[in-house]
Amino acid sequence: MAGLFDEPTVSFVQVAVERAVDRYPKGLTYGVPQSLSPIHVGQLITVPLGKGNTPTEAWVLSVSETSPTLAGNKEIKQVFSKNALTISLPEDLVSLASWMSSYYCAAIGPTLSTMLPGPVRKGIGIKTRTLVNLVMCPPNDVKLTKKQQYVLDTLAELPTNDRPIGISKLMKLASLGSRGPIDRLSEHGFLSTHQVTNVEASWFKQNIDTKEMPTLTDDQSRIVDAISKKLGEGYSSHLLYGVTGSGKTEIYMQLIDHAIKDGGKAIVLVPEISLTPQTAARLMGRFPDKKVAILHSALTKSQRHQQWAMVASGEADIVLGARSAIFAPVPIDALNIIIVDEEHDHSYKQDLTPRYHGRDVAIRRASTAKCPILLGSATPSMESWWNATRRNISTLHTLTHRAPGLTLPKVEIINMRIARAAAHGVMPVFSRELELEIQRSLANEGQILLLLNRRGFAPWIVCSSRACDWMMRCEHCETSMVYHRRKPLEEVGFVRCHHCAKEQRVPKICPDCTKPVIRLGAGTQRLEAIIRETIPLPSNQIARLDTDTTRKISDLHDTLDRFTRGEIRVLLGTQMIAKGLDVEGVTLVGVIDADTAIDLPDFRASERTFQLVSQVCGRCGRGSREAKAIVQTYNPQAPAIVLASEGKYEEFANRELRLRQETGLPPTSRMVRFVVRDDEFERTAGRADALYERLLSIASPSIQITPAAPCVLTRIADRFRFDVTASATTARELQQFLEDARQKKYIGNNRDLAIDVDPVSML
Ligand SMILES: [Zn+2]
Ligand SMILES: [Zn+2]
Repeated sequence: MAGLFDEPTVSFVQVAVERAVDRYPKGLTYGVPQSLSPIHVGQLITVPLGKGNTPTEAWVLSVSETSPTLAGNKEIKQVFSKNALTISLPEDLVSLASWMSSYYCAAIGPTLSTMLPGPVRKGIGIKTRTLVNLVMCPPNDVKLTKKQQYVLDTLAELPTNDRPIGISKLMKLASLGSRGPIDRLSEHGFLSTHQVTNVEASWFKQNIDTKEMPTLTDDQSRIVDAISKKLGEGYSSHLLYGVTGSGKTEIYMQLIDHAIKDGGKAIVLVPEISLTPQTAARLMGRFPDKKVAILHSALTKSQRHQQWAMVASGEADIVLGARSAIFAPVPIDALNIIIVDEEHDHSYKQDLTPRYHGRDVAIRRASTAKCPILLGSATPSMESWWNATRRNISTLHTLTHRAPGLTLPKVEIINMRIARAAAHGVMPVFSRELELEIQRSLANEGQILLLLNRRGFAPWIVCSSRACDWMMRCEHCETSMVYHRRKPLEEVGFVRCHHCAKEQRVPKICPDCTKPVIRLGAGTQRLEAIIRETIPLPSNQIARLDTDTTRKISDLHDTLDRFTRGEIRVLLGTQMIAKGLDVEGVTLVGVIDADTAIDLPDFRASERTFQLVSQVCGRCGRGSREAKAIVQTYNPQAPAIVLASEGKYEEFANRELRLRQETGLPPTSRMVRFVVRDDEFERTAGRADALYERLLSIASPSIQITPAAPCVLTRIADRFRFDVTASATTARELQQFLEDARQKKYIGNNRDLAIDVDPVSML
């Protein structure tokens, strides 16, 4: 076989070009020249691509000894080089990537690249050292200086184990002021040099929480026994449904303890950002002589590389991180358990290609690694509840009682229609009841959490004239502009679009009728302003948490720490504050507007509302003191709100599943959503219609396809959006349909079409 070069080809590799999107779905074949052999699966290499043989990075998918037959007798080109850093992904991650690529309709190259953290890929934190050693046959025709001779003598006197030696160390031993003499010796062939690369040890500060190991309740130990029996017995899937404060974390700890005995490893996933430090502190406190690798974005780049390398080398016993930590290169044979905490959380789904769901990829990984997977939540997703209670492919474990010593919060629903009538038609931010409870909590030295899932100061800017319906909209998106103040208590502000982030000045008068404009509604900034103006607390005892106040993740962690220590008395914010905070001093939780999600045209609106209200109400009553939650709503009869405030998850879930089944919606069916994007409205509509027709032409009777329609967010950043959805009863049927559509080239991931398998948002 003649290659591109003279060197003989000794084996063949099948590669996925890194950046190619869908152009080479089956991979490309290259020959491996003698000098680069062996090349392994999972390595990153450089290959010549296209007519110009452009050097291009590619992942090795498979290796074979025999020459594959290529269509049209094409010549097989040879690999250019291996990646200098010699990083590679283990084989099981390469097969996981192929599965993801096919299941989520994403190109495999970019999927593999998603698995490797940027800093590892770029080699940040890698230190290269040069070591030198004596050679067997030094040249005899070169005259040496005194210094050079002294270096050689020093080296010769060293015990063999200490050679090769680092240059700076040798300089010290031979009392050299510069490395010149050593360099001359290597140039003349008296010394051999060796390059050694390793990842810099790069430590980070991590609080450690050394709580005593609590005694398990009967319920807890029953569950720990049941799941730990499955360790080492192959794949099994478990759903832990435990009300907030019932001690799910303790069950995780005990199972990890069992799983990492005898060298086993555990992966623990938590939702994005907020929960990682708290969970890390607990893990490190509980397992002081085990290595916990933490993969989260608050670490510096070299720290992230170092933590990843610690996992890859098999040194780490426990891996903790958000969504992408499921790609931690834990050796497959050692992986003993995967735990996904708060499995219902939507941050597990990635909204860029590959649009994978971290929980579902975790299930896949556990089944390949033949180990148990435990999903935990106080408000399990409908998917997991369906799997555990209807399909029986996962075992349900239930904790119905709060841990001893914790009280259940009393939840009161406030009908804001009445509050609005009392305020003469103006929508008040606080009801009288919530105001009173805030005062009472402050008088009793309690801490307060206030949830408002909307950022900015005021979400709408409208004309003050009743005869005019002008509302300020983004010029680039089909959304209202949100008013933000520079500082909560200062009257200076700007408007920003929450979808394309474009900013504008606030108009003083209505462009349609020249009447003054007014700012309607409340976001977290207005809430903060009201609290600061009306509550007599020092300013550092009030804090706000939303993506505007936490541009740096360390700010988020700092605020959460101060709240946990009791230094912050009132913490207000978006759903960030609803996740996992476990603070004893909280005696009041206020949900300012439980309706932020309920009216969204998304079949999961009700589920989201239920989750948000239950999760935030569950933040109180963590201590022995009496605690209360107040839920303000304009929909006081909505089942999601009523059942969440009564703590009736099972009733809600069964009701919701019945509705989904009647309407054929996930999880009772499997869905894929195609979002067609284009610069012009008509063209977008036309392309979406054409896609619908094509998909219809290949759909078997078991596939339901909805005609093209404008998305709820019809335009984002000057791109119009239409969607088409397809559903089937089983994942297998849907996958077959997608495969057919790809074969016919009806679909492919690109800038103009987003393919979202198992979508979690329909906006
Ligand atoms: Zn916009
Ligand atoms: Zn007007």
